[in-house]
Amino acid sequence: GKITIAIDGYSSTGKSTLAKRLASALNYVYVDTGAMYRAVTLFALNNEYVGVKEDIPSLVAQLSNIKLKFMPNETLGLSEMYLNGQNVEKQIRTMKVSEHVSKVATIEEVRRMLVAMQQQMGEEKGIVMDGRDIGTVVFPNAELKIFMTASPETRATRRYKELLERGEDVTFDEVLKNVQKRDRIDSTRDVSPLKKAEDAIEFDNSDMGLDEQFERIHNYTLR
Ligand code: C5P
Repeated sequence: GKITIAIDGYSSTGKSTLAKRLASALNYVYVDTGAMYRAVTLFALNNEYVGVKEDIPSLVAQLSNIKLKFMPNETLGLSEMYLNGQNVEKQIRTMKVSEHVSKVATIEEVRRMLVAMQQQMGEEKGIVMDGRDIGTVVFPNAELKIFMTASPETRATRRYKELLERGEDVTFDEVLKNVQKRDRIDSTRDVSPLKKAEDAIEFDNSDMGLDEQFERIHNYTLR
């Protein structure tokens, strides 16, 4: 029968690429939880709760006014993030959002709200969810848990290419620093820090092409 697949790991380890491919091969639903933290961060930036000024209590007070929704883009064959009715898929991937998202993700109330949404989305089996706390907090009983790792250079190179393709004006060094900074904040925060679930399979894909990654992980789903 259908199962729940939790994919966690450090920034830019290729979690979403693999998760998307798994979901489409298995005919499962894919949920990118990073997009949810990014959308809350965009809301916070737009309202000046983070960024130049910082006002976390006001952000927390406004959380009930944040409506998040994934909606399919039929043309592209993928789902996109909507914040209060607006398609924010492009905006949430910018360096600006990447610079503030890990801070926003330390806020307990933000995590509580998003984890509840994620658990609801996963009530029906047949889901692949990627993030930082899926195997540890969101779905501790997931049948398959993967913890992805790769060298910081491999990861920064991947993210750098992505950002260049999107036309962002960044340097490799900025991207590397951002990836390392997010890893540090994500793994040292008090609330559900990023760590491998005890029963997760650790998977280092530094020197592995996508086909090989896919085949290996797909094999685990057949057991
Ligand atoms: O996956 P992505 O790199 O888009 O996630 C952006 C940030 O959102 C992470 O660096 C982390 O701070 C936060 N996040 C989290 N828990 C998740 C998913 C993302 O704290 N489940």
